[in-house]
Amino acid sequence: MTETTHAAPDTYDAAAIERKWQARWERDGTNHTDVEAGVRPYYTLMMFPYPSAEGLHVGNLFAFTGNDIHGRYQRQHGHTVFEPMGYDAFGIHSENYALKVGVNPMELIPQNIDNFRRQLKRSGLMIDWRYELSTTDPGYYKWTQWLFLQLYKRGLAYKKRAAVNWCPHDKTVLANEQVINGVCERCGTKVEQRLLEQWFFRITDYAGRLLENLDHLDWSESTKAAQRNWIGRSDGAEIVFRLHDYMEFAGAATVMRTSTSEMSALPPTDIRVFTTRPDTIFGATYLVLAPEHPLVERIATDEERTSVDDYRKRAAQQDVVARKVNKDKTGVFTGAYAMNPATGQPIPIWIADYVLMEYGTGAIMAVPGHDERDFQFAKALGLPITRVVAAPSENEHTPLTEPYTDSHDPAQLVNSGRFNGMVISKAKRTIVEWLTEHDRGREVVNYRLHDWCISRQRYWGPPIPIIYCDKCGVVPVPESDLPVELPKVESFQPDDSGVSPLARVESWYRVKCPTCGGMGRRETDVSDTFLDSSWYFLRYPSAGRDDVAFDPVLTDKWLPVDSYIGGNEHAVLHLLYSRFVTMVLRDAGLVPFDEPFAKFRAHGTIVRDGAKMSKSRGNVVNPDEYIEEWGADAFRTYLMFLGPYEEGGDFQDRGISGAKRFLDRLWSSALEMQRSGAPDVDVLRKLHKTIRKVTEDVPRLSYNTAIAAMMEYMKVLRANDRTPHVNEVEPLVQLVAPFAPHVAEELWERLGHKRSIFDCGWPSFDPELAADELVTLAVQVNGKTRGTIQVAPDATQEDAVAAAMADPGIARFVTSDPARVVFVEGRLLNIVVRA
Ligand SMILES: [Zn+2]
Ligand SMILES: [Zn+2]
Repeated sequence: MTETTHAAPDTYDAAAIERKWQARWERDGTNHTDVEAGVRPYYTLMMFPYPSAEGLHVGNLFAFTGNDIHGRYQRQHGHTVFEPMGYDAFGIHSENYALKVGVNPMELIPQNIDNFRRQLKRSGLMIDWRYELSTTDPGYYKWTQWLFLQLYKRGLAYKKRAAVNWCPHDKTVLANEQVINGVCERCGTKVEQRLLEQWFFRITDYAGRLLENLDHLDWSESTKAAQRNWIGRSDGAEIVFRLHDYMEFAGAATVMRTSTSEMSALPPTDIRVFTTRPDTIFGATYLVLAPEHPLVERIATDEERTSVDDYRKRAAQQDVVARKVNKDKTGVFTGAYAMNPATGQPIPIWIADYVLMEYGTGAIMAVPGHDERDFQFAKALGLPITRVVAAPSENEHTPLTEPYTDSHDPAQLVNSGRFNGMVISKAKRTIVEWLTEHDRGREVVNYRLHDWCISRQRYWGPPIPIIYCDKCGVVPVPESDLPVELPKVESFQPDDSGVSPLARVESWYRVKCPTCGGMGRRETDVSDTFLDSSWYFLRYPSAGRDDVAFDPVLTDKWLPVDSYIGGNEHAVLHLLYSRFVTMVLRDAGLVPFDEPFAKFRAHGTIVRDGAKMSKSRGNVVNPDEYIEEWGADAFRTYLMFLGPYEEGGDFQDRGISGAKRFLDRLWSSALEMQRSGAPDVDVLRKLHKTIRKVTEDVPRLSYNTAIAAMMEYMKVLRANDRTPHVNEVEPLVQLVAPFAPHVAEELWERLGHKRSIFDCGWPSFDPELAADELVTLAVQVNGKTRGTIQVAPDATQEDAVAAAMADPGIARFVTSDPARVVFVEGRLLNIVVRA
């Protein structure tokens, strides 16, 4: 008879237990990381959130919980784990919200951060709050400005006038990806093009390195693919087209105004184009320049000048994105001709808005026979189309009803003089060699990536640390004068002038030139939020330090980041910029590594009842409500059980009760278990299999399968309401701990342990107990028993045949491919071969 002193309750009081352990962790510094002396450092980083007024989103918690489980697991494996948190609080989202409610973001953001911190603490993350940071803190952005100066010193920051997408409603510059079908993604207003002086970083200098390093990174494949695509390497050739009959265009208006001596001093005028298809050079029947191309002014003939000028004006009014995707092919003839270096024939020079000055050379050679866009343009405007590539079944006379765009062997050249009959791969090489010999081209690598524009004509960001002086020109703010503090102003509304609201604060921007002491003027643009987030991971271990941006010893110890988890929506730009900045710092001798994130995994997204969550649908999950009702442990466990972490899942209200029930059963098992006697062997087998499964699944972020394995074990543990043994329960508490840390701590304490469960290791499994039991099969060949094999009980016929063929004693009787196989699961395998 078992003596029970009290009946175990069916459920545990999540609110009370979670309150108790959060207070205990805080009191004991359980989540503190000894960044200086901790052994086996493991830096587990999550992308820091933007602290919105609405508070933490369930998507944030999904991401952070997955990271937290990973971190807690590493700690249970003996690592000193650093799991910091901060806020990406500058930028247009915060500023627009502040404008909407009419409160300065300097007052608003701290409130939002307080709310975020409360929610994050309530969800039981293993964060060391002593290292919290916000990008809006002058102690942080002092170093963001310092970073700008490091790039400036290395010649990697420069200013240029550039065409930008301008939202007349938000009164701000938009990145290309913020323009959707020609309208602003935020407000739907039609986007315009403007020319503004802006600061850029020369990220294109690093394009090759940014691309090559990807091969050695342990990152999600989809993320690497997105980076490769963004960098967009293309191998090809630059080809020089000389203007045809140079004197002929001396009739053009501008040249007419110059004297004869000046005219002869004009440089020979070449048009350079980049192409990935130098093999099609014989089919280049016209050239197209961007309307802004500087040569247009010089080559347009009198007859065409009016239409050229009109067209250029119209093009300037369109936004950059619309120009690239425009379906209607428009363009005008300049009246000038260039010579095709291969055919020696003159071809007309056109301008068209789909060619952009920002990309490549601002000029293209058009091969309408073999390019979709050129084909449409030539058809629309009546330009000649020549076939220069043909499939083996075709010849130069096969008509082109559509462009022939296959660029792979065995397609070969036609209508291409001495290159006729050559397959494409060889023709590419040979033609580039031939052009190089004649000084009409060279092999080049081109990238789609362009320089990073960091100027923002807004208020809510770190001022760019530059002073303009009439005498000295551009003067960087001395490092000892940092930070250049953002002034608190009454009016931070952007206006139509296109300059930052800071340009209205004379008392702030009027400043002495640091070099000559004369009157200077501060740069009034602030920097891009992507600059704030391009280095925050370097700051965390040194957060709060005023003497350095990042301490070299701590940096060496903690970085590169061991595991980085974040959303795929930031995967391209944030990761690219962070990698670029790290490479620059390495070249400056400031960090000893090229790549900041050894491992990156993109987490999935959560929908609700099959639909995307959004405020307008009213189906947003507010984590606070769920945590209050079910507890953080059950909420975390449910979030991780929704689906594969890297894919996400569908949040359903009824689902969470399953997670709570599982934890309740763990609770009652621990309270009802017996310490005397011995554990059951079959339960132990299941336990060791479960330990093995969870040990393998957690580091690869396969949380849903780990939870499923623990739930399955729970069924065996409590089959027929059996009373479990302590040795069957205790390891399960440790496995559950990363998912449900509060209840695990409580049970661990009740089991008699004095230290935090996260400092007491991880259960190991006995490989023999964890191994699947095997069954012995007799193997016959043509009905004669030739041996036995050991296979899993659920082995398929294929598995069994493979195992039999791996046994040389059996395989030697199988003299030809089996004609027939007889398989009786778990008992017999008979292989029939023809004699
Ligand atoms: Zn807008
Ligand atoms: Zn000066």
